[in-house]
Amino acid sequence: MTDLTQSLWTATARPAESYPALTGSQRADVVVIGAGFTGLTTALRLAEGGARTIVIDSVEPGFGASGRNGGQVIPGLKYDPDQVDQMFGEATTDFIGRAADTVFDLIDKYRIECSPVRKGWIQPTVKQDHLPGLKRRMLQWQARGCKNEWLDAARMQQLTGSPCFVGGWIDYRAGSLHPLNFVRGLARTAADACVTISSQSKATSLKRTGDSWEVKTSAGALIRAEQVVIATNGYSGSLLPKLSATIVPASSFQIASEPLTEAQLNEILPTRAVVSDTRRLANYFRISPDNRLMIGGRGTFSEPRSLNDYSKMISDRRMLFPQFPDLKIDYAWSGRVAMNREHLPHIHQPIPGLTVALGFNGRGVAMGCSLGRAIGEHLLDSRVELPLPFSKMKPLPLHACHPFYATLAIWYYRLRDQLEN
Ligand SMILES: Cc1cc2nc3c(=O)[nH]c(=O)nc-3n(C[C@H](O)[C@H](O)[C@H](O)COP(=O)(O)OP(=O)(O)OC[C@H]3O[C@@H](n4cnc5c(N)ncnc54)[C@H](O)[C@@H]3O)c2cc1C
Repeated sequence: MTDLTQSLWTATARPAESYPALTGSQRADVVVIGAGFTGLTTALRLAEGGARTIVIDSVEPGFGASGRNGGQVIPGLKYDPDQVDQMFGEATTDFIGRAADTVFDLIDKYRIECSPVRKGWIQPTVKQDHLPGLKRRMLQWQARGCKNEWLDAARMQQLTGSPCFVGGWIDYRAGSLHPLNFVRGLARTAADACVTISSQSKATSLKRTGDSWEVKTSAGALIRAEQVVIATNGYSGSLLPKLSATIVPASSFQIASEPLTEAQLNEILPTRAVVSDTRRLANYFRISPDNRLMIGGRGTFSEPRSLNDYSKMISDRRMLFPQFPDLKIDYAWSGRVAMNREHLPHIHQPIPGLTVALGFNGRGVAMGCSLGRAIGEHLLDSRVELPLPFSKMKPLPLHACHPFYATLAIWYYRLRDQLEN
């Protein structure tokens, strides 16, 4: 029977620590709203630099996508490095190219127990006409000194265990981890570095008064700070209505199988690389630390209510690994990713003293941590440049209709993926 009440991560993580809600009048240099990868890495970097920092979360550290994701640590954006050079300059390409290093360095430096594995990320395709684009991407990273390799169809089948793909590449900078243990480890590390973390503390209002900010929370705290950072990504609610209108919070679904047998483990991802393919609604898969096959992808637009809502993922599982038709699914869960038109993270600074980072478009493990650290450094010393320019908070046109359009788009892209297979 599939467990829909908890994720594989909540079932296998170390117990959550308690971070009691702050009440009454509080003071900090910086208040960070949102205790996921982005908020916690910002706070940790600020604390390392001596800033008094408070992190508040509506629920608890890792409640959002950071505690629910596939745990694939992938550097880069959805754009090729030459395109990023043209859009933002070489320093940005270098920054995103090092995003996975940032994560694994944090894990090493603070000895965070989160089952890190660094065996690379495979980007395969089922479409012959995607191969030239993948090769171009691989060669562009290679020209920048990154270790990667081209995989023909036979080698791809050996490394993934799936007969579906016609080729692709492997990027050895990437890897995987247990995301909930990682985010809980980041919270513990930040707390040890004197960051105050306050769970069950939804920011309900944000007001500029003179040179500082006042943040009120649902637990009754009034926090005054010189700087505010908003790191609420796909869980951004009505705190800044204009901000919520810049993204579409889409559901991303995950399933995890029963533990694989020794023979299955030797066939599916035998080197423990992670995979996401090139289709419009990418499928991604990996082996979990407790030896299950995990598959993720876009589901229905709304939150799932029953196992039926995961039927696309379950049929993808059978298509990817037809040799194992009877693999049982033990866990199914979902979370929200923040999508935008540009497929790029956004950093906004609508008013001095207020910084916002969101829009990771399903690639926030490495990028969220890297941007969080960069924002922390920038707030400690404004001469340190951010890797991406500030962008204007531009609401998406007809934002209120997006659930409807996004559902249509999901069906449309699925149909095109199927027709082109
Ligand atoms: C199912 C799934 C699979 C994914 N797989 C991958 C993957 O394999 N690799 C990858 O790179 N990315 C993946 N992603 C994306 C990645 O998880 C996210 O981009 C990343 O976790 C975003 O981190 P964050 O800290 O910005 O936001 P989140 O982790 O979403 O945190 C936002 C936090 O803000 C809090 N919050 C919201 N409003 C308020 C408020 N008013 N007051 C206080 N707190 C508030 C929420 O409670 C939440 O804890 C996946 C996402 C999902 C959902």
